[in-house]
Amino acid sequence: MSEGAVVIALDVGGTGIKAALVRADGTSQHTERHATGADRGPSAVVETVLSVAGGLADKARADGLTPVAVGIAVPGVIDEVAGVAVWSANVGFRDVPLRDLAVARLGLPVALGHDVRVGGVAEARLGAGRGSRHVLFVAIGTGIAAAHVVGGSAYAGAHGAAGELGHIVVRPGGPRCGCGQLGCLEAVASAAAVGRRYVELTGTPATAADVAARAAAGEELAGQVWRDTVDALADGLRTGQALYDAEVMVIGGGLAEAGAGLIDPLRAALRARLTFHREPRLARAALGDEAGSLGAALLALDRVEGGVRAPY
Ligand SMILES: [Zn+2]
Repeated sequence: MSEGAVVIALDVGGTGIKAALVRADGTSQHTERHATGADRGPSAVVETVLSVAGGLADKARADGLTPVAVGIAVPGVIDEVAGVAVWSANVGFRDVPLRDLAVARLGLPVALGHDVRVGGVAEARLGAGRGSRHVLFVAIGTGIAAAHVVGGSAYAGAHGAAGELGHIVVRPGGPRCGCGQLGCLEAVASAAAVGRRYVELTGTPATAADVAARAAAGEELAGQVWRDTVDALADGLRTGQALYDAEVMVIGGGLAEAGAGLIDPLRAALRARLTFHREPRLARAALGDEAGSLGAALLALDRVEGGVRAPY
């Protein structure tokens, strides 16, 4: 890539779009945030995505830079090969050929990716998994999803739906999950589930971060909720390790904001559950909520020569 070349990166979430111009070495040149406005319907969201990307291309050129490719990350079920957002409840997409629409509008190569998978790629190449070849990135937020990244590339599965660690049943007969099953990891240990459980026990609304802080401060019921959460997560990660034999598990998403308050007890609980499996290194995600846009940038850079390669 020539000097002054940048890629346009968009991480499209249910509430906001994080957008960036990123250089070939993976550093952000410029970042922006926009509202997704998912309540306006899928066509309006597509129009916003295209106009944000177009605006960034204009800004790059106005600043003397050359936009060379576009990466777009979207949640849900994504067919990365066809460039189609197959199904995304948060954003309202169903069978949207987003890559071709973006190519037509912008006249640049475009890569479409899954938000958690590209976040995993960013953590593996640039963040907490750097230097490890086998990385399992686990995002614990409103839901729970994972990305299996090997040699800097994430595996999407046959139908674009790999890594749904959140729907491993860890508490048979437990709380009902959004997917319809009872006792999924996501229904027990997502940030949303932590808040729900705490309000059930105490009648007091609290975010997962509040619960973590109160547990750390010695509040009994918060401590109970937090211990139950850590135990359920350890059950899920044990299954994850049985499936993926990861070298490092990178824990991201809102729940990881608890830092050592999550990672330390989770490491101990996972260690206690492992039998013949090798213990993975457990690390807190390093890129925060920029992982998605940086990962989208890496997808775009992979489309052009000279981008950041996996460091192996
Ligand atoms: Zn489920």
